[in-house]
Amino acid sequence: MVNIFPGAERAQRTLFLSLFTAALFLIAACGTEKTAATDTTSSLNAAPSGVVPSPQSTEPISIAAVGDIMLGSSFPDASGLPPKDGADLLKEVAPILARADLAFGNLEGPMLEGGASAKCGPRSTKCFAFRVPTRYGRYLKEAGLDVMSLANNHSSDFGREGVESSKRVLRELGLAHTAEEGDVARLNIKGRKIIVVGFATNNVSYNLNDIEKARRVVADLARQADILIVSFHGGAEGTAAQRVPYGRERYLGEERGDLRTFTHAVIDSGADLVLGHGPHVVRGMEVYKDRLIAYSLGNFATYGKFNLTGALGLTMVLEAELKSDGAFLGGRIHPATQTKPGGPRLDSAGQIIPVVRQLSQADFGQAGVKVDADGRFTRQ
Ligand SMILES: [Zn+2]
Repeated sequence: MVNIFPGAERAQRTLFLSLFTAALFLIAACGTEKTAATDTTSSLNAAPSGVVPSPQSTEPISIAAVGDIMLGSSFPDASGLPPKDGADLLKEVAPILARADLAFGNLEGPMLEGGASAKCGPRSTKCFAFRVPTRYGRYLKEAGLDVMSLANNHSSDFGREGVESSKRVLRELGLAHTAEEGDVARLNIKGRKIIVVGFATNNVSYNLNDIEKARRVVADLARQADILIVSFHGGAEGTAAQRVPYGRERYLGEERGDLRTFTHAVIDSGADLVLGHGPHVVRGMEVYKDRLIAYSLGNFATYGKFNLTGALGLTMVLEAELKSDGAFLGGRIHPATQTKPGGPRLDSAGQIIPVVRQLSQADFGQAGVKVDADGRFTRQ
């Protein structure tokens, strides 16, 4: 109990009984372990039932976040599947993900069997459609991931059927998801109501190009959550896209967002943490109104046809500690690399650390995070 309420010893005797009762309720309702906390949310994406105020913990919450995950594709054929059927792909990074209170990733590619893709022609060499075996879902669970965003440019590679199949796989494993408009992940961790909402640049998910709508959606969700996490899949792609420009980005003829305006707008509207991905490279981080923004988490576990040269092969697990009200306390970069054909390996040389330091400084100046040599980072 002391672990749950570190301030209890300091509380006045008159407050002790009510705190004790609240703590007991908290233990019963939520547990202190990550597994207990997520297990109690039997319907992870269900709308909140009734108005039962949750007892509030003041303990910080640790978030682990990673970028694009595509563990192997059975489309167009099984040659795109990894050795050992993918069982080892996430093993090295799993302990970092598992110990966080909440671990987030971007599920780049639908999980389904069969189905048809209208996306690519039979002889296309430049079009990528992914189809991840449904049996790979358990690797996400075993790695410690709790919530996946399907709000990206590949989750609809196999149409509605692929999205629904992915959601079903995650639901059966006890992972939450955020996919199309209205589908937000709701979790209860350490007595805090946490909502994760995904934005992308398509018309299935909330569209990050519609900033006025984003403000309304986020403001509405912020009223329902103690901590609101916004995920977005946006920005140009590739080694030339490491910097966060001012104004709108376009890529392959698509509007990929005015990300500085978007991220600040959602925080102005009540978001507490913004997690970006999409460029396939890691971008810098800034702190705005005491809230952390990671502009791109990069590729994370992308097996197969992905280009992993240079900056495309550098990645990380982002660990961020948030106050119980969502304010940013501090964080740590856990460096990793991918080499062809893919799968993250921890990087003792820490190659991504100076990259994030330099990008954060160059793009955000005083607002950029200050990154130490060991990967720990704080606001300036
Ligand atoms: Zn993408």
